[in-house]
Amino acid sequence: MLQLNSGFFGRWHLWATLICGLLGTTAAQALESVTLQLKWTHAFQFAGYYAAVEKGFYQQAGLQVKLREAAPGTDPVKVVMDGQADFGVGASSLLLERQAGVPVVALAVIFQHSPLVLVARQSQPTQSVHDLQGKRVMFEAQSAELQAYLRQEGLDATALQSLPHSFNTRDLIEGRVDAMTAYSTNELYDLDQADFAYQVYSPRAVGIDFYGDNLFTSEQQIKTHPARVAAFRAASLKGWQYAMAHPDEIIDLILTRYSKQHTRAFYQFEAQQMAPLLQSSLIEVGYMNPGRWHHIAQTYVSLGLLPKDVSLDGFLYDTTPPSSIWSPYLAGALTLLLGMTLLVSYILHTNRRLAASLASQKLAQQALTESQQLYQSILHASPDAVVVSDLQGIIQHASPVAVTMMRGTTEDQLLGRNIADFRDPADIPRATANIAAMFKGVYNGAEDYQLIRLDGSMLETEINAEIVRNAQGKPSGLIFVVRDISERKKTEQRIRHMAQHDALTGLPNRALFSDRLQRAIANAVRDQTSLALMFIDLDKFKPVNDTHGHAVGDLLLQEAAQRMLQCVRDSDTVARIGGDEFVVLLRGATGVPETLAVAEKIRSVLVRPFLLQAYSLQISCSIGIALFPEHGQDDITLAKNADLAMYQAKERGRNQVCLYQATPAP
Ligand code: GH3
Ligand code: MG
Repeated sequence: MLQLNSGFFGRWHLWATLICGLLGTTAAQALESVTLQLKWTHAFQFAGYYAAVEKGFYQQAGLQVKLREAAPGTDPVKVVMDGQADFGVGASSLLLERQAGVPVVALAVIFQHSPLVLVARQSQPTQSVHDLQGKRVMFEAQSAELQAYLRQEGLDATALQSLPHSFNTRDLIEGRVDAMTAYSTNELYDLDQADFAYQVYSPRAVGIDFYGDNLFTSEQQIKTHPARVAAFRAASLKGWQYAMAHPDEIIDLILTRYSKQHTRAFYQFEAQQMAPLLQSSLIEVGYMNPGRWHHIAQTYVSLGLLPKDVSLDGFLYDTTPPSSIWSPYLAGALTLLLGMTLLVSYILHTNRRLAASLASQKLAQQALTESQQLYQSILHASPDAVVVSDLQGIIQHASPVAVTMMRGTTEDQLLGRNIADFRDPADIPRATANIAAMFKGVYNGAEDYQLIRLDGSMLETEINAEIVRNAQGKPSGLIFVVRDISERKKTEQRIRHMAQHDALTGLPNRALFSDRLQRAIANAVRDQTSLALMFIDLDKFKPVNDTHGHAVGDLLLQEAAQRMLQCVRDSDTVARIGGDEFVVLLRGATGVPETLAVAEKIRSVLVRPFLLQAYSLQISCSIGIALFPEHGQDDITLAKNADLAMYQAKERGRNQVCLYQATPAP
């Protein structure tokens, strides 16, 4: 506990601390400069970041972002760890760095599937990856997924002549090498332009499915700037959503602002190739599935690059609403708490000193009154409730805000009562543990607690506590600074709901649906049950908008959502994942006939006329179904196959249900 010199200086120091604390919470924030280290030279590969700069998403998040290109040999992880950049774009090999002790943290996955492939000269129609035996192959760094792939195919590195990569496709075209590692989004364009016949081998053919570009930062960055990290991540992902929806605009931007290294046609090819790798129409951009990271880790384990007991602890960024978004407030509250604690300590100290040592009783009384007045002024000025108790928790002082906050009328209603009387009983063990830890010198920071007010109603609060010490430095009481956070809690709840639901129909949106689908699959695997996934797209919906206006189209979507909800059980999920696209997830589906019956019911309720405003409108829908586990073992495959089945229903004339059928391998 800090000790203060009594006297004028000590008092001024106190005021200065308090005033700085209070001002700090309200001062306008200037734009913070941060740097993002890219993984390669400017290209559509980084489209989302350009969009976030150009569309002002970073600026709205309080950030001024500099994008740094990479040169051959640049290691984005090293650049970020050396503090030359705050964020970086890296490969799945971030896992290897983490295991080697580098404190990298993956913030978001941009490429749901890695674009890394092997490309070889086409020699005969029946050639396979085994024909690479003994051949000259250029490998780039961080291509472990390809090594794992070759090994799974029974070819190890020694079976090939492994060469360093020149990043020049002419070497393949002119026959100086037989194959090379490549990005399916880039080099294939050059090969096509040169009319070169090639064969592509992808590790996904044998189930090795790595993430591609990942946004990352350092643990230190998250610790020291949690709000900045959350804001940067959110703005970047918003940029990606924009970029994937407006590729041509971003290509124009790249050509005018960033790089003319490639032609427009090249960037268009890259954008087209990237769409299926990002899967942005099915999966929320940035989404990280811990299961997929485990799969990647296990592939590294199989290559001997990671130990068997590899852990992902701390590697994946925690996106739960960070308390850090309140950090400016928290800093203010902490400063206030510190000031209050210093003040109370100071007053107790001064009071005792004055009482004991001042010769003149009058002078002592005057100084005492002065310090009491100072204390009262600060209690009155604080926007938070301030309560001082003895070591047993018996309340000795309560500020006017504390009285009002607890729905009392006078301080007497609180004095002499124990702090614990006002706590939610469920919080008492945690509060007791935190106070005990504080006495051991561990500071736990502000914590959220529910308080029971004098009229019995509950209040959401955030409480900072500190120890008050006497002149000898011994603990003599506790001081609590209590903030009413009920508005903040409501806002958090609203934001959480908005982030997960579609504003028009109130149904779960794509992000929440994706989460539910993954959980449902995990449960189905555990319980050995099945699932059914339906993709539903309204037929000829656009003409409804065109003929009757968008507002009527909106009403139809709302009514259609209600009708679908009436066809399923409460435990099932109906979600809206796009304009007129819906999905239904049936948990524990009992079989094909039952699933088809539900689909048929949905189809038939949607063909019934919709009475909207003055119109009676008729519409229909096309439904595709994929079943777990028969038609896909994971969310991505299942969703893709349900989508394919839905397109089949469209092709067959719409207004019908199609069950996914795997096309036999050629
Ligand atoms: P298809 O049978 O091939 O599905 O034809 P479609 O006319 O339904 O075309 P498609 O599914 O491709 O287009 C969906 C349309 O939904 C495009 C857009 O005009 C409209 N739409 C998207 N979002 C909304 C929305 O929020 N409200 C309204 N009213 N219309 C929307
Ligand atoms: Mg449609």
